[in-house]
Amino acid sequence: MIPAAFEYARAASLDDAIARLQAAGGAGKLIAGGHSLVPLMKLRLSEPAVLIDIAHIPGLAGVRESGGVIEVGAGTTHHDVATSDLLRERCPVVADTAAVIGDPQVRNRGTLGGSLAHADPAADYPAAMLAVDADIHLKGPGGWRVVKASDFFQDVFTVDLGEEEILARVTFAPARASAYAKLHQRASRFAIVGVAAALEVSGGAIRPARFGLTGAASSASRLECV
Ligand SMILES: Cc1cc2nc3c(=O)[nH]c(=O)nc-3n(C[C@H](O)[C@H](O)[C@H](O)COP(=O)(O)OP(=O)(O)OC[C@H]3O[C@@H](n4cnc5c(N)ncnc54)[C@H](O)[C@@H]3O)c2cc1C
Repeated sequence: MIPAAFEYARAASLDDAIARLQAAGGAGKLIAGGHSLVPLMKLRLSEPAVLIDIAHIPGLAGVRESGGVIEVGAGTTHHDVATSDLLRERCPVVADTAAVIGDPQVRNRGTLGGSLAHADPAADYPAAMLAVDADIHLKGPGGWRVVKASDFFQDVFTVDLGEEEILARVTFAPARASAYAKLHQRASRFAIVGVAAALEVSGGAIRPARFGLTGAASSASRLECV
């Protein structure tokens, strides 16, 4: 199908994107990789009047570590997360997760921020974000706020993200003893069920251990350890 007509604008900065969302008065939509939004537009399940492209905002993509905290920009593609030496060494669960998303075309265009904001109940990243206890950094007209991953995912395609807010980056502590595994849907490779685990091992004991689950309920959730 063919999407409804829309205007297109390329945002130069986070503040520019927020101003354009405000000016659109609820009819604007951010587009990053377009791999979830464009299919919805083609089915006319989403009909934004204005598409605000955030894929070229300087500094929105990249993986860094500073002061013992890892930061991944929302605009980082799944491919760049999957192949990050820093993540492979310091927090393999996040790189492992990105490596099994979709196919190379999806991984080359899709972004971390787009996946988290879209919150498909079968998406892979939410499980990893819960396992590493990520902080999700959002910017809106009122400034910055930080939401824990455990509070961010609320229901099917529903997250704690305002209409005029942008997910800018996620931060988390390194977790070297960590991994992701999923049983995937054979055509799309979305998770039928996926589990991410991050353990801290000290003095021969595991404490704490965190597990994130995706695909099995209306939104990703943390598994309780008993
Ligand atoms: C064939 C196919 C197979 C796939 N397989 C998998 C899979 O196995 N596992 C998996 O997890 N996913 C899978 N996906 C989804 C893929 O990972 C998408 O890339 C991802 O869900 C959305 O990222 P995007 O950058 O493309 O976002 P877009 O499609 O550009 O945007 C998605 C939504 O997020 C919003 N948004 C985007 N960026 C931001 C931001 N920074 N802040 C706030 N809102 C934002 C947009 O407004 C839109 O509502 C698949 C997709 C396709 C087409």
